[in-house]
Amino acid sequence: MMPLRNRSLKMFTLALLFIITITSFLLNYTNSIVSTSWDPKQIAYQFSEQVKKLLKYSRRPCSCNTCILEQTSAWFDERFNITMQPFLTTQNAFIPQESYRWWLKLQGERSPKGINETLQEFFSFIPGDWEHLSERSSSRCRRCAVVGNSGNLRRSQYGQEIDTHDFVFRMNKAPTVGFEPDVGSKTTHHFVYPESYRELGEEVSMILIPFKILDLRWVISALTNGTINHTYIPVPRKIKANKDKIMVYHPTFMKYVYDNWLQRHGRYPSTGFLSIIFALHLCDEVDLYGFGADSKGNWHHYWENNPSAGAFRQTGVHDGDFESNVTHTLASVAKVRLFKGR
Ligand code: C5P
Repeated sequence: MMPLRNRSLKMFTLALLFIITITSFLLNYTNSIVSTSWDPKQIAYQFSEQVKKLLKYSRRPCSCNTCILEQTSAWFDERFNITMQPFLTTQNAFIPQESYRWWLKLQGERSPKGINETLQEFFSFIPGDWEHLSERSSSRCRRCAVVGNSGNLRRSQYGQEIDTHDFVFRMNKAPTVGFEPDVGSKTTHHFVYPESYRELGEEVSMILIPFKILDLRWVISALTNGTINHTYIPVPRKIKANKDKIMVYHPTFMKYVYDNWLQRHGRYPSTGFLSIIFALHLCDEVDLYGFGADSKGNWHHYWENNPSAGAFRQTGVHDGDFESNVTHTLASVAKVRLFKGR
């Protein structure tokens, strides 16, 4: 006699096969009446196709129409490292020697304070538990807009569309007031460093991009006693940012962006490029607005005629052409959508 467990398993498998075959047949029937047949080979084929579809569906990395991790691209896979943590948190506040040495040289700070004591002080003051933000889930559809500062946003009328995103990332001195039809009014996260700081709304998360230890110390100072008012240029002594929403870009992640994505072009990545790769790690769909130099290759702004638009070229600090090539390739392999203005 067959043991009860085996018999139940067999019955269950038979029932499952029966249901899937019928579903398969019905699906096929509704799609194409002509090709329907009771040929066992045909049914077996349809059955395996349906199982494949089912498996593919259940393995989707997100619930959006398209998911960054779903589009296949060998070029992308060579560069993207899912284990990299975009935020510096209390859990990962350790910077490996190699990244630390690279990072310390970025702005050549003279006699920097120790990183460990700075971070300890920093996280006793500012929340350091943002890991959950980069956890993925197949039921999540997080649509993000990364808004660069390009003059190509002028008269673009992208504002409404930008505001439909779950996360809207802006950066540096970017204003919205007075430019809403073209750039929108919603900001969920704003990337800054001390020299590029602008006042942010209460509801906005400030993402500090630290290029030196002084930048971390400046945040504490600017929210307390205001002792720091100068780095390599004057910086705001006091800021009104919501301290419970402050996040920090991980220096190791910055090095990853430089090595993997820029293949060490320029001295270090621009704010805009750092934001794009950051968004790839945090979002399920990424739309880019406000990226693109003017006809001379300079980074013009949508709100002003900035005389220093070509400074990054002269100093060689960023490789704008390489960054632009990578951004265009990301768009061509369907990992981002690039809105180039009108
Ligand atoms: O000028 P700023 O650095 O504030 O601009 C933010 C980012 O927007 C830059 O780092 C760059 O990546 C991007 N940008 C651009 N084209 C422009 C201006 C800015 O791609 N014309």
